[in-house]
Amino acid sequence: MRKNIVAGNWKMNTTPQEGVELARAVAARRGEVAPQVAVIVAPPFTHLSEVVRATRGAGVSVAAQNCAAEAAGAYTGEVSAQMIATLGVEYVILGHSERRQYFGETADVLNRKMERAFEARLVPIYCVGESLAEREAETHFEVVRAQVEEVLFSLSAERFGQTVIAYEPVWAIGTGRTATAAQAQEMHAFIRSVLAARFGHEAADECTILYGGSANPGNARELFSQPDVDGGLVGGASLKADDFIAVAKSF
Ligand code: PEP
Repeated sequence: MRKNIVAGNWKMNTTPQEGVELARAVAARRGEVAPQVAVIVAPPFTHLSEVVRATRGAGVSVAAQNCAAEAAGAYTGEVSAQMIATLGVEYVILGHSERRQYFGETADVLNRKMERAFEARLVPIYCVGESLAEREAETHFEVVRAQVEEVLFSLSAERFGQTVIAYEPVWAIGTGRTATAAQAQEMHAFIRSVLAARFGHEAADECTILYGGSANPGNARELFSQPDVDGGLVGGASLKADDFIAVAKSF
C-alpha cells in the first residue's frame, strides 16, 4: 500500500556511539511526526544492532544501506540480508547511485540483491536516478525507465507490492542542488506510468515512490506536496535529528 515514508541514509558517517545518540534523538522526537508517516533510519552495518535497540518501541524503523548478492558462504567482507534481518532491521536500500557508481553495481547484481532481500523478508528501497550528463542530454526518462525495467519488471506482483522506490537524481545528491518540485513530480509520474504498463494502474498507484537529493527542512514541504511524491530518502539532513524530524513533519 502507498505510504508516506521519510528515510535517513546516514551513509558512512557517525561512530557507533554517535549513531546511537542520533537514533535516540530521532526516537525521542518521533511523536512530533504524523503517525501515518513511517520514519526510517539507515545507519552503517556496524551500528544496526544498537540502533534497533535504541529505537525499539518508538515507531522508528531501521534500514541497512546494502546487502550481499549471495545468501551465505565464502564472500569475505560481505553481510547477508538474512544476517541483517535477524537483527530486527526491516528495510534495505538497494541500487543507491553511490553503490552503482563506486562499487560497480549492475542490474544483474541488483536483481540478486533484491532476491536475497525478499528471501530475508526485508523491504527493499530500490533507488533509480539519472546523472547530470544524462539529464543534460535529455535521456533521463530512458535511463530511469531502464533502471526500473531491468530490476523491477521481473518481480512477482506480490513482491512488487512490497517494494519502495526512491528517485534520486545523481546531480542532486549531496550537492545542495535539489530537483524542483515540478521535476520530481514529472519523474515520479513517469515512473508510475512505466510501472503501470507492467503491473497495472492500481498496483502502480499503490507503489510508494520517494524523492532523494538534497531534501531538507526548507524544500521538503513543496516536494512532498506533489501528488506522486510519497516522501523522501534523505542523506545530509538526516545526520541532525532536528533537521530530519523537520523533514518528516513536512507532509
Ligand atoms: C542520498 O544519498 O540518498 C541523498 C539523498 O543524499 P543527500 O540528501 O545528502 O543529497
